[in-house]
Amino acid sequence: MEFGFSKEEEAFRQEVRAFLKEIATPEVIAEADSGQGWGPHTWKFVQALGSRKWLTPTWPKEYGGLGLPPVYRFIIHEEIDYTGALKPEALMVGANIAGPTIIQYGSEKQKKEYLPRIARGEIEFAIGYTEPQAGSDLASLQMRAEDKGDYFLFNGQKVFNTRCHFAQYHWIVARTDPSAPKHRGISLFIVDMKTPGITLRPLYGLDGIRTNEVFYDNVVVPKDCLVGEKNKGFIYTVSALEFERVLTVGTLTRNFQHLVDYVKSQPSLRNDRLVRQRIGQIATEIEIARLHSYRLASMQTKRIVANYEAAASKLFTSELSQRVAGWGMEILGLSGQLQHGSKGAPMDGIVEHLSRETLLNTIAGGTSEVMRNIIATRGLDLPR
Ligand SMILES: Cc1cc2nc3c(=O)[nH]c(=O)nc-3n(C[C@H](O)[C@H](O)[C@H](O)COP(=O)(O)OP(=O)(O)OC[C@H]3O[C@@H](n4cnc5c(N)ncnc54)[C@H](O)[C@@H]3O)c2cc1C
Repeated sequence: MEFGFSKEEEAFRQEVRAFLKEIATPEVIAEADSGQGWGPHTWKFVQALGSRKWLTPTWPKEYGGLGLPPVYRFIIHEEIDYTGALKPEALMVGANIAGPTIIQYGSEKQKKEYLPRIARGEIEFAIGYTEPQAGSDLASLQMRAEDKGDYFLFNGQKVFNTRCHFAQYHWIVARTDPSAPKHRGISLFIVDMKTPGITLRPLYGLDGIRTNEVFYDNVVVPKDCLVGEKNKGFIYTVSALEFERVLTVGTLTRNFQHLVDYVKSQPSLRNDRLVRQRIGQIATEIEIARLHSYRLASMQTKRIVANYEAAASKLFTSELSQRVAGWGMEILGLSGQLQHGSKGAPMDGIVEHLSRETLLNTIAGGTSEVMRNIIATRGLDLPR
């Protein structure tokens, strides 16, 4: 059995790590920690990655990629996650969701207009799927895009759209045929966030990270903003991205290392048997999560559909991140509740922040219940 990264892949990881050391400056990390989205330092960071084509390593060369297998993208993401330079995860919507879909289904004009700029890190997209009445059940969405002949007229509301306040484009799904069965009357669009009639209302999570409510009020969207065929948007959003999901344990590993270092530095903690038990348990579970993520990367590289494996990895890793926060809090005791910047806050408040930040992990990107349903139905053939 051959189990591990090849020599070339390991060498690539070292190259990525060394470059990230240069570009993931304290200013970039401070912007990520602020919860306000990408500021000037983050854009510079993203463009530095773009200069090496490391935002789009798997894309064909003609579109600004390197034509590498998905395991290289995984390595880049794992290393970025470890630095904490992009939050909540290293996922870039343009490079990993919009771009690959445009390559597969977009028009020539869209390919020319967006792909090179995504690859260089000049533009980003915000996902516009969720609505007040349509989250897990996305097909219930009600945002209308009326075909007016020369243009589409948008009216409706989105919610929890994370990047709208700094991304240039909305990667949005809307209903184009209200009379069709609900999965079939939906289309996918690229909308310029500066279009008149779009307004944002900030929505902050418990962790201080900004998402947005987005309102479309008689927004005129040109015909050529439609991606692929009309009324096929649901299929594009759900099935086209099976190979694009990247899950890593980079962030978990970094936070756990901080915890272990802290425990080692405190005689009352490092000599405590229960603390050692917890640390041993977390270390084991992080290894399990890591193996889940490696399996996913390996399957994607072999172009094997990995619905079940992606769901299992997302479920285990997101729930583990919450256990780590909870156990970290238990280990630190009452002082663990002190926030970053407070006098005497152990680990500078990292665990306190994690106990709020990790709550979203089992909701965003699909809830744990939805992941379990996927494992049971698509993985184990139980009835839907
Ligand atoms: C921080 C954050 C960032 C986000 N960013 C974005 C973004 O950028 N763009 C975007 O479009 N969306 C975004 N979302 C939205 C996210 O995708 C949804 O919150 C998620 O899909 C769940 O939908 P919902 O909130 O409507 O909950 P609901 O779907 O209403 O679920 C409520 C509860 O019911 C359970 N449930 C629902 N259906 C089933 C079922 N069939 N079986 C069992 N249990 C079920 C759920 O698990 C959950 O516990 C973000 C969310 C968060 C928290």
